[in-house]
Amino acid sequence: MRLILTLLALVSITGAYELPLTPKRLTPEVICFFGEPEVMNTTNNGNMLNTCYLDTSTSYVVIDSGSSYAYAESAYNAIQKIKPLPVSLVINTHVHDDHWLGNGFFAQMGVKVLGSDDFEHNADMHVPTRMQTHISPEAYAKTVPTLPGVRIGSDQNITVGNQSIELHMMKRRAHSDKDLVVFVPKIKTLFAGDLVFNDRVLSLKGGDINGWIDALETLNRWGATTIVGGHGYRTDKEAMKMTYEYLTRMRTEIRTAIDAGQSIEETINTVTMEPFKSLRMYETMHRGNVEAAYRMLEWEEK
Ligand SMILES: [Zn+2]
Repeated sequence: MRLILTLLALVSITGAYELPLTPKRLTPEVICFFGEPEVMNTTNNGNMLNTCYLDTSTSYVVIDSGSSYAYAESAYNAIQKIKPLPVSLVINTHVHDDHWLGNGFFAQMGVKVLGSDDFEHNADMHVPTRMQTHISPEAYAKTVPTLPGVRIGSDQNITVGNQSIELHMMKRRAHSDKDLVVFVPKIKTLFAGDLVFNDRVLSLKGGDINGWIDALETLNRWGATTIVGGHGYRTDKEAMKMTYEYLTRMRTEIRTAIDAGQSIEETINTVTMEPFKSLRMYETMHRGNVEAAYRMLEWEEK
């Protein structure tokens, strides 16, 4: 027994679980990590979302802490090798657990974590997280679900180091009940959270197709030249295009189907949206998205 305990102690001292995260510089101030276009599983072990570090000259602001303690620690270590600076603020874009389960790593260092007040209503702390049930126990180890300590209900402008940072709350349900996006005007960079997907089919579960399209139209007016979504690799000024085209085409086709009296089953079978078929996760996500959108749109005022 003593031997086992000694071995366990050694693992906990030296055996930090490393996720193979590769930092990618987008601008002189922004470095991001891009996850696989997949659901969380024991192969990617939670490396299936995007997170970013914004260099404000005196400290980093982190946008989304990632899917686990190990994710947050691995990203932090990779960034410190590039330029050692403390992290002064972590911003959570929304309540889906792949984006904020790394909070515990930062909270333990005394870093302020900020998110929307949606965390008070929609982050269920009493059930196992999706990450807990889908990635390996080693990768999830040390993860303690930790809510943002600062929760805001409306837009805020803050200054950190040499950057003015705008925090915008979407006015209605879009991808989630309350999506928070981060815009840095000086460098025209938008961190859009899961309002923007690329390289895979998005998830409309828990969202609202009309609110999401409205949100993208709002973001599009800001003139961002670098746009980072919550999933997918594209980050140029056209990075919102795929999500916008997918949602608007789906809405048009479903409205037409509803007007023609098609049932939900018929609509799921006919709104196949061929040009998107080659995208990753089409097989697992698309039919569910049509079903979710149909249920919303069938109640629309004509
Ligand atoms: Zn999400």
